[in-house]
Amino acid sequence: MNKKTIRDVDLHGKRVLMRVDYNVPIKEGVISDDKRIKATLPTIKYILEQGAALVLMSHLGRPAGTGYEAEFSLKPIADRLAELLGKPVLFATDCIGAEVEAMAAQLQPGDVMLLENVRFYKAETKNDMGIAESLAKLGDVFVNDAFGTAHRAQSSTEGVARFLPAVSGFLMEKEIDFLGRATENPERPYVVILGGAKISDKIGVIRNMLSQADKVLIGGGMANTFFKAMGLEVGDSLMEAEVLDIAKALLEESADKLALPVDAVVADAFDNEAHSKVVPVDEVEPGWRILDIGPATISKYEDILKTAKTVAWNGPMGVFEMPNFAKGTFAIAKILAEIDAITIIGGGDSASAVKKAGVADKMSHVSTGGGASLEFLEGKVLPGVAILQEK
Ligand code: AMP
Repeated sequence: MNKKTIRDVDLHGKRVLMRVDYNVPIKEGVISDDKRIKATLPTIKYILEQGAALVLMSHLGRPAGTGYEAEFSLKPIADRLAELLGKPVLFATDCIGAEVEAMAAQLQPGDVMLLENVRFYKAETKNDMGIAESLAKLGDVFVNDAFGTAHRAQSSTEGVARFLPAVSGFLMEKEIDFLGRATENPERPYVVILGGAKISDKIGVIRNMLSQADKVLIGGGMANTFFKAMGLEVGDSLMEAEVLDIAKALLEESADKLALPVDAVVADAFDNEAHSKVVPVDEVEPGWRILDIGPATISKYEDILKTAKTVAWNGPMGVFEMPNFAKGTFAIAKILAEIDAITIIGGGDSASAVKKAGVADKMSHVSTGGGASLEFLEGKVLPGVAILQEK
């Protein structure tokens, strides 16, 4: 994938309209985590240094889409951004319309303006072209730096790019670069780790990964369905009877590539305080359930991971929200921190696992987009990426 970035276009004297992901936790006007705002600073500073004016837009939460709701206003974000940038950030109380257009027209090079929540208009999420065209009036160039929403075609992610030259910002560039590396031309051996609750959510990813990777290591609840398909007892473990046929077919087609756990931590209840023990996967008794991978599996997976040159990981190895069943997930995170390979962490639970394990900064790339990174790994075309100009 060879998409243009802000480095490939002349921004001098231009007004830049940029989609960012400022979907940050806010309670009663107080931002409890401003990571996502800080993450956009390098792109913002670069654009301003080029002598451009900047109009920023984002969604926040899930408003009804019928107009202003104080709870979902981006105003606190404008204030925080102004502090971080050390300069005023103009705030527009709407994202489209004559008044906002007049404000945007007044902007001088170096000025920054933030628009109100684009999701105050329901049609935005339906990729309404009227909204897209109105947004496009606010800039001469469109920059998308919001990977987390790139898998959805919406007025502010895809529609607007039909009306303006569209390029990526630095955050988006890094996502495309690393996830593209994993899906297009990975340095081999390429090992993929897939975990999480269900096979059914990830059939597309499993299939695509089996065709691209050299090994696919399975963990989490999804392994149980494979065990059942092999005729093993899984007790009260999470298991999906409706996809047993698919699990069987995958085992037959790809036995050489699929690696399954050899032991498991089982518990007599779905509870952190439940009685638990480690058993080989063919010795799970009725009444018990698999909640994590066991030590022999960790060591088997470690041997495979040590040989890898590229690793992509999506989904936890067990119920990592419960400390007693988080060991497998954290052990994998620590192994990835030590091996000599490009390590790419799909967003969502795997991203929070490497953070909780304290090794996020040891990874080559931790994706900011859960759904978006999964669709990328699945080989799907993300509309917000596809529409960006080719180099
Ligand atoms: P996903 O959203 O598909 O990546 O699944 C993540 C969820 O899978 C987490 O909330 C985990 O608690 C859950 N999970 C992982 N392993 C198991 C397991 N063995 N049994 C039940 N749930 C699990």
